[in-house]
Amino acid sequence: MLRRGTKQQCRACGEPLCDRSASFCDVHRLEHNEKAKGRYKKNPSTIKKRIKLSTHRARVRALQLLGGLVCAGCNERDYRVLTIDHVDGVTEAERKVSKNRRGRKGRLDSNTFYFAILRGDVEVKSLRVLCMNCQVRNEHRRGNRRILAELIPYILAAGGQVPPITLPC
Ligand SMILES: [Zn+2]
Ligand SMILES: [Zn+2]
Repeated sequence: MLRRGTKQQCRACGEPLCDRSASFCDVHRLEHNEKAKGRYKKNPSTIKKRIKLSTHRARVRALQLLGGLVCAGCNERDYRVLTIDHVDGVTEAERKVSKNRRGRKGRLDSNTFYFAILRGDVEVKSLRVLCMNCQVRNEHRRGNRRILAELIPYILAAGGQVPPITLPC
């Protein structure tokens, strides 16, 4: 189910929310943005740090919701290489979750994505934690990446390996 948080009214005036904000009507959204820009100009490094902290805290909580800070493929626990994998690619529901906050390729930008997970706007069943290695291997398994068959003997002859991919799904 798609849900836009529990508050449906502008925080400043009580009018209905505009569809570009989870907190404000359109007038107060713009006013709020202007104030935020002013604060940013005054002290960019503090604001950048604050955003980074809030993004990573949301990321940690999102990973916890998806089964913990551990790769579902190989049990890697290094936070720096953990990613969120769409089990079957991006679903239609996620595409619709926000028309205005999409990043490249129609996906939500990662910051918005973490908060969408925490709000319950993204189906958790469609997501899992994978490390970057397992993420890449899985792209090969899905056929989104491919090693040319002619290359494989060449890689093996050079001492490389192309092992079969074993992932939960
Ligand atoms: Zn308002
Ligand atoms: Zn892994």
